[in-house]
Amino acid sequence: MVLKKIDDKRYSIPTRLIYGQSPASEWDYTHHVIPPITTSSTFRLDSAGRGAKGFAEFSQPPAPGHQPIYIYDRFGEPTVDMLQHALAIAEEQESAVTFTTGMAAVHAAVCFALNKGSEIISHKTVYGCTYSLFTTWLNKLGIKVHFCDLTDPKSFLALVNENTRVLYLESPANPNLELIDTETVIKELNKINAKRTEDKKILSVFDNTFATPYCQRPAKHGVDIVVHSLTKGLCGFGTDMGGVVITKQKYHEALILFRKDFGGMLAPITAWHIMVYGISTLSLRVPRQQQNALKVAQFLLSHPLVEKVSYPGLPSFPQYELAQRLLRDYDGEFAPGFMIYFVLKGDNAEHSKMRGEQMMNYIAQHAYAITLAVSLGQLRTLIEHPGSMTHVSYPASEQVALGIDPGGIRMAVGIEAPQDIIADLSAALEHVKQQV
Ligand SMILES: *Cc1c(COP(=O)(O)O)cnc(C)c1O
Repeated sequence: MVLKKIDDKRYSIPTRLIYGQSPASEWDYTHHVIPPITTSSTFRLDSAGRGAKGFAEFSQPPAPGHQPIYIYDRFGEPTVDMLQHALAIAEEQESAVTFTTGMAAVHAAVCFALNKGSEIISHKTVYGCTYSLFTTWLNKLGIKVHFCDLTDPKSFLALVNENTRVLYLESPANPNLELIDTETVIKELNKINAKRTEDKKILSVFDNTFATPYCQRPAKHGVDIVVHSLTKGLCGFGTDMGGVVITKQKYHEALILFRKDFGGMLAPITAWHIMVYGISTLSLRVPRQQQNALKVAQFLLSHPLVEKVSYPGLPSFPQYELAQRLLRDYDGEFAPGFMIYFVLKGDNAEHSKMRGEQMMNYIAQHAYAITLAVSLGQLRTLIEHPGSMTHVSYPASEQVALGIDPGGIRMAVGIEAPQDIIADLSAALEHVKQQV
């Protein structure tokens, strides 16, 4: 039986994140309400001709209603393809290509368009492994990466030359949640690109992991390529790793071919988890996390041991006006997200850092509704102290120079009852206050 094609674009995005593309040409689930998990590394070909057609077509953008010919999992696979449709819907974009992890996706997004001698310009505050991909591995291959502070949207202009091929953005930034004025940066970039041929154009690549597509869709502001770690808010349950590159149709083929040769294909079982549990509940989880985050941020703001609170939903956030412009949910409502950064008071850098450590140790031993762990976007509230954890190798004074507050703490708020998160936080802060 052939399913009637329904124009799913008439429906709202939260609904489409549950149902995906209609009908899904990748799999006949006429009688399954939830698509079955398919795990077969290779596919039977009815004839050599069908094999030839499959090889010719696998990298092409998916056409609605067109039944793909599958050959081998690394080339393309039904569950992964269905997840990709859902992810493209989530970012209101044309194409999505998934990878095994967020870092595999960042690598592909940045490298697929590079040539010998190409250069990259990146915002200075990026995810730690992205930073070491740039400064260690790409550097070894002779790919120059220049860093600038894109909170000044014109700061990259002085670094542009004829070899520049990628402009890399991350906003809100990790861990301080500083925002980039994406619209202005892209406006400046477009002026440069207007004078360049297609093969010389500078691609904008944007890591949107912290906001999730629920809170921000950078393609709307003209960004070419959006990357996500699926491990975070898009998976949402803390059970799986994955990554995705979301772009216009015209880059789809190159990304599929890149994935074919560099590997990094997402496993079907993982794709199924993220599609069935993660994406379909995105618009249920994030609003709840966000409500909690605002309450937690307000509590922290009023606490005498807290020097400052950085949460885009607070009117005291230094870029509050920009946050309201950029961070919007599918209904156009302000969506400041679930990440909070706050700084503990201290007599000096060492003292603040020690307090951060004391607070983490107390939470690790005594808190029930907050867990000391890296990562973000889960049902559980996670907390970490960059000064004594991710950036511990730098002395406190050097951390300050790098923009890391020694007493800075990052929280990814979950869906618990907010008073429980606040009670655990309050007890931990009280404990720190009592230390000498
Ligand atoms: C976690 C994260 C990544 C890397 O994703 P993995 O799935 O861990 O490889 C990239 N960017 C940001 C902002 C992240 O938080």
